Amino acid sequence: MNVKIENLTKVFPGMDRKSAGVTAVDDFTLDIPDGKLVCLLGPSGCGKSTLLYMICGLESPTSGKIFFGEDDVTDVPPEKRRVGLVFQNYALYPHLTVKQIIKFPLENVKGDARLSKEEMDKRALEVAKLVQIENLMDRKPGQMSGGQQQRVAIARALVKMPNVLLMDEPLSNLDARLRLQTREEIRRIQRETGITTIFVTHDQEEAMSISDMIIVMKDGLLNQIGKPQEVYDDPDNLFVACFLGTPKVNVFKGFVKGGGLFIGDDKQSERILDVKGVDDREVWIGIRPEGFKVDKDGKLTCDLSGVDVMGRDISVVCRNSNAEEVIRAIISAENEVDRDAKTVKFNVKPHKTYIFDKETEERIRFT
Ligand code: ADP
Ligand code: MG
Repeated sequence: MNVKIENLTKVFPGMDRKSAGVTAVDDFTLDIPDGKLVCLLGPSGCGKSTLLYMICGLESPTSGKIFFGEDDVTDVPPEKRRVGLVFQNYALYPHLTVKQIIKFPLENVKGDARLSKEEMDKRALEVAKLVQIENLMDRKPGQMSGGQQQRVAIARALVKMPNVLLMDEPLSNLDARLRLQTREEIRRIQRETGITTIFVTHDQEEAMSISDMIIVMKDGLLNQIGKPQEVYDDPDNLFVACFLGTPKVNVFKGFVKGGGLFIGDDKQSERILDVKGVDDREVWIGIRPEGFKVDKDGKLTCDLSGVDVMGRDISVVCRNSNAEEVIRAIISAENEVDRDAKTVKFNVKPHKTYIFDKETEERIRFT
């Protein structure tokens, strides 16, 4: 089922009359397509959970609307929205068995929609198989690993066949290895069920690897929506460029003059790239680590401070005299970089080089 959000805003009131409120989600409009896995990505406190809880009905919006398919669900209570919810801490009832925990949402259904005992058992076993815990049905939460407990929580969220599956940082409590494994599992389960899934995370790598679409948020504001690779390759602003990618994009103060791009504010600095169509101005320059090409006639000269061969790639740490920041470049190991050289020269790849307005930090596109 597709989820549509129109001008959704949530303002939490201040503690008392004097303190201002917090705008946790600020005028969000977006369309989440049916059957996709979408990540809400942003730093802690940017409003991800608040947005998720409005979608499931646990928080009511200050203004704006939420649609599931054609239905306006803005005022529909959570239990009637048919959403499955998975939290960071699994919150499983410690005294129940896995089977009882998974069946619990079905047991709570009253009236005509209530399933027979046999049907409940059958349904519980189906979802247990889906998340691969069917051999743990008689265990209690205390007798399982964190990864297994999170699978139980996912099974519980799926047992009522929700329209939408909502997950709030579901992997944060798992150790690194389990986190990787469980995220692959979530991807598989989502593909197999085709349930529209909204996955909240602050971890850009997790979001990049798992999602069909990412929604990057900052301070309650929607910054960019797109396929992970598109957002990485074509960020709309400096924040998005910096938030996605490890090692981070290299950021420099710089300026455009006469259709050329220069690092620093020294008018003697090297013209590193042609940027047609951009007026003379001060800018932020972002260059992805993979955006440097070693070239003996390169336009960017740097003092070499470290060369690290990492198998397929070489990591080069260096410094340009016009920039305060250290440059971290990743180049293919097919290149030869002389470790003992004092300097290294680069050219920069235009499609890996971004420029941003100095004040608004919005992207300035060039040809
Ligand atoms: P995230 O999940 O991205 O870390 P949240 O949605 O939890 O962010 O919070 C967004 C902002 O709203 C934060 O500034 C947070 O302090 C504030 N906030 C969240 N819940 C409440 C609440 N119940 N009352 C007041 N402020 C809240
Ligand atoms: Mg949160």
